[in-house]
This record gives sequence, structure tokens and C-alpha cells, in this order.
Amino acid sequence: MPAADPLAQPAELGAGAPVLAFDVGGTDIKSALFDADGVMLGLRRTPTPEPGSDLPERLVARLVELGTELRAEHPGVDPVAVGLVVPGIVDEVAGVGVFASNMGWRNAPIRALAEEAFGLPVAFDHDVRTGGWAEHVLGGGRPYTDSIVLIIGTGIAGALVLGGVPFTSGGYAGEVGHSPVADEPLCPCGARGCLEAIASAGAIARRYTARTGIAVDGAKEVIARAGAGDEDAAAVWDEALDALALSIAQLTAVIAPQAVVIGGGLSRAGGALFDELRARLQARLSFHRIPDLVPAQLLGNAGILGAALRARSLR
Ligand SMILES: [Zn+2]
Repeated sequence: MPAADPLAQPAELGAGAPVLAFDVGGTDIKSALFDADGVMLGLRRTPTPEPGSDLPERLVARLVELGTELRAEHPGVDPVAVGLVVPGIVDEVAGVGVFASNMGWRNAPIRALAEEAFGLPVAFDHDVRTGGWAEHVLGGGRPYTDSIVLIIGTGIAGALVLGGVPFTSGGYAGEVGHSPVADEPLCPCGARGCLEAIASAGAIARRYTARTGIAVDGAKEVIARAGAGDEDAAAVWDEALDALALSIAQLTAVIAPQAVVIGGGLSRAGGALFDELRARLQARLSFHRIPDLVPAQLLGNAGILGAALRARSLR
């Protein structure tokens, strides 16, 4: 498999309508203007407004400020639509932020607020699902019509593309991180044995520290320690790999994706992750078509590129 080098081959949107794009996270907002050639202009990262009951209104006001700045810096580019992606449970059909623990909103009519404030059509969607769509169109999922993107970082998020279109089920599909794979531990979501409570980069570091009392610099240190013969680290890493392999095996049996595109901090483990998962999938499955396991390519820009794609899809 060719090594994915996103810096050597920068993903480009290509020609299309000029759009504004925003990727809103719990701590910061990424914003940029895309011109008619698809060039990303003025990309910046600014703090997300503080949580509070009126966050949807304050957030939209902040986005309008950012959009005004971007347009002032690039007066030759006249955006015709806005792409806006946020975390949590998102009903992209209704344009509603159903729930987001880190934003504190419930049933917030964000698309309507943004369309009113910008005076432009707004595409509103889920950050990781949209990033998954961007991976499908521009990144690691390009060769496939049926693929699942898994972003393994602090948590584990998923995005499904089936038959070449995103499968969302009203915002509830793709929660691979909260699929149960064991009877414990308790997950912050309230369920038990969720995949991300065992196999996210955050969980791997946390579980090693809980087991040994030793603070570590993230999952990468646990993986390095496992490679150096630390039995506790090896056990934690082994459990994480088994849990990921079980979850991907179940997805393979039910959905049969051609590929699982893996991004997020844990994907930087490279062969230690991809080769191990391939071997464990082979061991678990029989007649099934084992999906290609491929690295994500867009890295931190997947969300904002996806927002721009969604905005263009309005035209
Ligand atoms: Zn959970």
C-alpha cells in the first residue's frame, strides 16, 4: 500500500462555487474561505465562545464576525453558501443540533439561526460525519463506494458512506465508539463496555495509568512501552486491539464495507495498529470479505473541507 502523505499531496476541493466553511469544536473554531478554484484562504483557529444557554446565538454571531473578516481580507471572493459542522448528535435534515455534551445545547435550531444571520444558504452537519465524507471524496476513502471512517482519538467517532452516499439515520448512525464490545468499564455515556472506553487513544492512556499508577504521554507512550516489553502496557494495548478488531469484525459481517479508513491520533501508530488489526480480523472471520484498512489522509482539515463540500452541495 502506498504511504499516505497528505503534505505531499494536499487535498483540494477543485473548481466550484466560492463558500465559507466553519468547523466548530468544543474548544476552537476553524474557519476559512474557499474560492472558485477550491483554494482554502485565511484558515484560522479561534476560541469557541463559552458554553451557556444562549451559546447557539453567540456562536452564530461569532461565525458571522469571522466570515466578515475573511471576506474583507479576500474582497475578490464572494461566497454563495456557508458550510457549518458541529459535534454531538446532529439532525442534518432538520438543521438541528440535537445534543452536544461539550456545547451544552439541546434541540438548537442552528441552521435557521445561521441562515438568518448570514443571509446565505447554510449546510449544517456533524463534524466527524462530514469529515468522513471528505475522506471519502478527497482522502483515503476515494477508491471505495462503501466505507467506514473511524477517527480514534480522545474518543472514537465513525462515519458511514454506503452506496456512495453518507448514511446518517437522523444523526444516530456511526456511533461506533459507543457500540458495546464488553461488559465493562462504565462509559461516560452511561452504557457499559463501549468500544471507546477501551480502545480510544484516551482510554489506552487512562487504563494504563489506572493499572500501574504511572502517568504517560498518551497512547503512543503505552504502545512504545508495550513494544519494549512492559507487560502492563502490552495487556492494555492488546485489549484495545482486540476490542477494535471485534467491532470492525461485526461491522464487516453486517455492512461489509470495502474499506475502513482510520484517522485520529491512534492512526499514527502505523503498522503497530494497522498490521495488528489486519491479523486479528483474519483470525476472527472466515468467508467474509476483509475490508481494506487504510489511513485517513486529510488529518485536521477533514472537518473544514467537508463543510466546504457540503456548502457546495447546496448549489
Ligand atoms: Zn459509551
